[in-house]
Amino acid sequence: MEEMEMKRIKIFDTTLRDGEQAPGFTMNLSEKVKIAKQLEKLGVDVIEAGFAIASPGDFNAIREISRNVGNISVASLARTTKLDIDRAWEALQFAKKPRIHLFIATSDVHLKHKLKMTKDEALKSAVEGVRYAKRFFDDIEFSAEDAVRSDIGFLTEIFTAVIAEGAKTINIPDTVGYTTPDEYYTFIKTLKSQITNIEHVEISVHCHNDLGFAVANSLAAIKAGATQIECTINGIGERAGNAALEEIVMAIDTRKDYFNCYTNVDTKQIMKTSKLLQNITGVKVQPNKAIVGDNAFAHEAGIHQHGMLQERTTYEIMTPESIGLEMSKIILGKHSGRHAFVDRVKALGYVLDSTELETAYAAFIDLCDKKKEVYDADIDAILNKETTHIPEVVKLETFMIHSGKHIPATATISLIINGAELTDASVGDGPVDASFKVIEKSVNKAIKLIDYKINAVSEGKDALGEAVVVLKIDDKNYRGRGLSTDVIEASINAYIEAVNKSYIEIN
Ligand SMILES: [Zn+2]
Repeated sequence: MEEMEMKRIKIFDTTLRDGEQAPGFTMNLSEKVKIAKQLEKLGVDVIEAGFAIASPGDFNAIREISRNVGNISVASLARTTKLDIDRAWEALQFAKKPRIHLFIATSDVHLKHKLKMTKDEALKSAVEGVRYAKRFFDDIEFSAEDAVRSDIGFLTEIFTAVIAEGAKTINIPDTVGYTTPDEYYTFIKTLKSQITNIEHVEISVHCHNDLGFAVANSLAAIKAGATQIECTINGIGERAGNAALEEIVMAIDTRKDYFNCYTNVDTKQIMKTSKLLQNITGVKVQPNKAIVGDNAFAHEAGIHQHGMLQERTTYEIMTPESIGLEMSKIILGKHSGRHAFVDRVKALGYVLDSTELETAYAAFIDLCDKKKEVYDADIDAILNKETTHIPEVVKLETFMIHSGKHIPATATISLIINGAELTDASVGDGPVDASFKVIEKSVNKAIKLIDYKINAVSEGKDALGEAVVVLKIDDKNYRGRGLSTDVIEASINAYIEAVNKSYIEIN
């Protein structure tokens, strides 16, 4: 009864490579390490930490992540050239389980217009790449970029050749998000029947969401025999994104009866991982996003609520607890005390050293003065903020706003810059614009505001406001986050944080 055995599906997370390379999702080194550690807790099998040769930022991230995670595979993307492979090895040499992810395009359109290579040249480059990578790596993954638009005969030939050369995983990506579930199923089945020794390697898929099929295509691939899924938290990634990890994992878990497989992911860590990424990047998922959206487990309609009260399974196919979402939000306040705060921090899964705990507790007390009820979301926001260390070259001393209907907004701000106090004022289109102008003038830098968002972190009219700004300073983008019950103050803090980041080389 071998067919009845549950098959394990490996989760290859590419949030820090494919996800990070999408516009608006750039992360600095400490943010990437923080995500990687959470991915380890989540229980993914492989973390693709970057594309080593692409930039010093990618290279450093791969190296730091290799040093900071435990017994988990860390991968770097690389083309099939010696230079790329050398650079990937340099970045990965301290990893406990290093993996190289080699790729070359195989479709006619990519070969002709991008690589300007013939099929024979691409085949030769692939085989030579795997052969060279073997000098350093035991764990080699090979991807045929744009596989679904490639000639299936050529794919058979190139995959057979790289397996013979020593590739342990072959990836059959839908790079441009073009295929459909039925078509992809047949495609993989056909390749499986044609590639020599394919039964000895992992079959991986990597799907993009251009037509909204990324998750469905990945699941169809599992049915066809894929054993590794490449995906990202919240489905971030190039263009319309990649397959969303949380959707893949929960589909497999909820429909075990249908897929007959499992993953090593600890589903209770899903919500926390999703929120961490949203907090770090400042990009929120839409409320109706499957699994992790704010409404994913909200039952508003009366008839649904009635059914839920009688029996949860009437309208609920999975529980909020299964993804680590606690429905009974515990509320803290001024009188909760230090002990309750420390307990809550532990329960939310944070491990802090004593300095971090002191800073966080001080921020909590400060918040309790402004806000009666402190929710878990507020504590998350404080902790995700206070554990990132950014030197304060510029500090906010005080600010005053004058604004109203038919009068121009004026901001007067006192800053401490390198220890010296400086007070200045400016008018602008509204109080936020006026405030930003004062800071720009005071720090004497040419600053362009690229993005500005404001969100309420928790509920209530005294909710903690979170401002996120992206500033362009000296041709580089810097993201800053600010938290306050006053949205102007949150905005000023966010702006100052981004400015402070520009003083240090963090990438
Ligand atoms: Zn991709």
